[in-house]
Amino acid sequence: MAATAAGLMGFLDEEIAKLKSEGRFVTLRVLETAQKPVSTIDGKEVVNLTSNNYLDLADDPRLKKAAVKAIENYGVGTAAVRPIIGTMDIHQELERRLAEFKGTPAALVFQSGFTVNVACCQSLMTDEKDLLISDELNHASIIDGARLAKAPRKIYPHKDMKALKAILESPESRAARRRMIVTDGVFSMDGDIAPLPAIVDLAERYGAFVMVDDAHASGVMGPGGRGTPAHFGLCDRVQVQIGTLSKAVGAVGGYVAGERRLIDYLVSVARPFIFSSSHPPAVVAACSAAVDVMLEEPERIRKLWDNARHLKEGLKALGFDTGASETPITPVMVGDTFKAQKFSARLFEEGVFALSICYPIVARGKDRLRTIVSSGHTRADLDLALEKFGQVGRELGLI
Ligand SMILES: *Cc1c(COP(=O)(O)O)cnc(C)c1O
Repeated sequence: MAATAAGLMGFLDEEIAKLKSEGRFVTLRVLETAQKPVSTIDGKEVVNLTSNNYLDLADDPRLKKAAVKAIENYGVGTAAVRPIIGTMDIHQELERRLAEFKGTPAALVFQSGFTVNVACCQSLMTDEKDLLISDELNHASIIDGARLAKAPRKIYPHKDMKALKAILESPESRAARRRMIVTDGVFSMDGDIAPLPAIVDLAERYGAFVMVDDAHASGVMGPGGRGTPAHFGLCDRVQVQIGTLSKAVGAVGGYVAGERRLIDYLVSVARPFIFSSSHPPAVVAACSAAVDVMLEEPERIRKLWDNARHLKEGLKALGFDTGASETPITPVMVGDTFKAQKFSARLFEEGVFALSICYPIVARGKDRLRTIVSSGHTRADLDLALEKFGQVGRELGLI
């Protein structure tokens, strides 16, 4: 008997049932205000420890004003991809500012951090004779970019420099036409920092070049928030610097900063750049305004780190394990999927939003809540959060 048209999609019921049984079925929380340190989510006002709004710029009046002005002058969209006629003077202005911010000769803006990672892996590793070498905890967009690259890939255990050296020394790796080492600058789930000095030393010794994804470090780490290469004084030794405009910058987008010929090359070959339309004027103008604010108000970064320290120390004092965190990303380790989800749900009822992050986003047994503070949180916000973490943590027998 022929299946009914609807019956052909019956496998989705099975897939969904499987996701539910594993605690992996996602329902969406809905934000009813701007992204703020204290936001209304699903009808409830909560201390928001879940966004990447590090510098509290997502609702900044100066960014909003710049966006409105750009809409009035340039309209709402570009209706073209960048190399056709989707490049406006304001796109180039933003790229000049980002290059200046990163201290590189040039920069190129993409639709997102995800697409810029995919583009760079795919465009720089174009042959089976190349080799892409990647930390096992790199972001999903690097993993997908590596899958789209023609080059084979080698994965080293997280931050394991001995393993990286062994890969670089192996005969098959030595025979490669070109080699690229890719790492997150700050790892998004654990909040730890890549050992860039060792990576760069090894890269130079074995003739590889380095790509650093600073999605969680731009606007956060290093002098003026210029990222992890700047933090370690390695800007001129990291060839491909990736940043996002979707986190600390508060809008959306991604960029790569580096030498002029890198940018010239990507303009001609990077598939997301060539085949997907460019940023609307409002976004471009908001990002430019954000770069200005970051340069003019370094105190935001100081406040972010003060807040991060306060929350981290408070969580540790309560007896929680905050893992390997060295940055404003602070995990609270739980170890069990359902317990992590329950912890998050109970905190939400108590007015604190900290998302649970579970297998398969993190390894089995590494289920956790992840907290990210913003420069906009007050001491009172953070102390309320700590009080609730203590209360609910005791209730669930976690501390
Ligand atoms: C968030 C993130 C990205 C993706 O950035 P978007 O601009 O949101 O697409 C890439 N890399 C890392 C490490 C991230 O945390």
